[in-house]
Amino acid sequence: MSLPLFPTTLAGSLPKPAWLAEPEKLWAAWKHEGSALQAAKEDAAQLWLKIQEDAGIDTVTDGEQFRMHFVHGFMEQLQGIDWQKKTKMGIRDNRYVVDVPTVTAAVARPKAVHVADAKFTRAHTKRQLKITLPGPMTICDTVADGHYGRRADMAMAFAAVLNQEARELQAAGVDVIQFDEPAFNVFMGEVNEWGIAALEKAAEGLTCKTAVHICYGYGIEANNKWKETLGEQWQQYDQIFPALNKSRIGQVSLECAGSKVPISLIRHLADKQILVGVIDVADQRIETPEQVAAILEAALEHADKERVHACTNCGLAPFPKGVAAAKLNALGAGAALARKKHAR
Ligand code: ZN
Repeated sequence: MSLPLFPTTLAGSLPKPAWLAEPEKLWAAWKHEGSALQAAKEDAAQLWLKIQEDAGIDTVTDGEQFRMHFVHGFMEQLQGIDWQKKTKMGIRDNRYVVDVPTVTAAVARPKAVHVADAKFTRAHTKRQLKITLPGPMTICDTVADGHYGRRADMAMAFAAVLNQEARELQAAGVDVIQFDEPAFNVFMGEVNEWGIAALEKAAEGLTCKTAVHICYGYGIEANNKWKETLGEQWQQYDQIFPALNKSRIGQVSLECAGSKVPISLIRHLADKQILVGVIDVADQRIETPEQVAAILEAALEHADKERVHACTNCGLAPFPKGVAAAKLNALGAGAALARKKHAR
């Protein structure tokens, strides 16, 4: 299925309905167990597919309804991680101090993690389907190393198991596999040393579309405070986009709505499709179609129109369900408005 000009998609996550998990809370506990939980997750995914389709989203996701946490949801199914052995670690360069599980042996993936759920989702939409996975660097920043000794080595080990999963997702009919790397604007030196190499290893051999989502995080307090320290213009991407542009990853997702990322930085991504964030995830006010279209217009000053896609800044999971749905509508309407003006 060919995509229109300014195709629309979302970073990934959407709020869990109140009957699945406590709303407006990140990583809230499930309200069911066993087969009842699975049925509830499937209902939630189908509900969000319908909302996305009605909003005119071209590449939809399962809204991450099947997992509680975007990193742990994948890691929980791996071998080599001791979840009882918690280590206190300041993650994202000490932005949050949390108890993280510890890698105590070589990591392995004894079975598929998200593949069955992706097949379910695939069966319930004709739109292009994107499934997200945590990127290797971000995994390494969310787990303590008691085995490998070097973060780069641990990242390559996680990249290998991510690649197994990604290949099975592709075989299940997934059109876009996106790796989430919020650690990419925190450890810029390491991104160039091994982060991009690990990302490419995770995506090795894939023939479907591949994407990387880099971001400054959900609009939660710890992130908002961190953002205040980053200065008037967030120039971090200057340091990593040139190398990212040389990578084999096809799409780069970044936040442009209400953020201090100068949109001119997308000039460094001349060979990529750019998922321009046009929906703010730190503000519950609903964008107007005109505001969305204006950001796409600004992107056109630095990238040809065929490479500009419309996306959310980050996941919409922390919002009330109605806000997330209204923001998806604004995304669809804003892209349609821009399309009208720039029709091929
Ligand atoms: Zn994000």
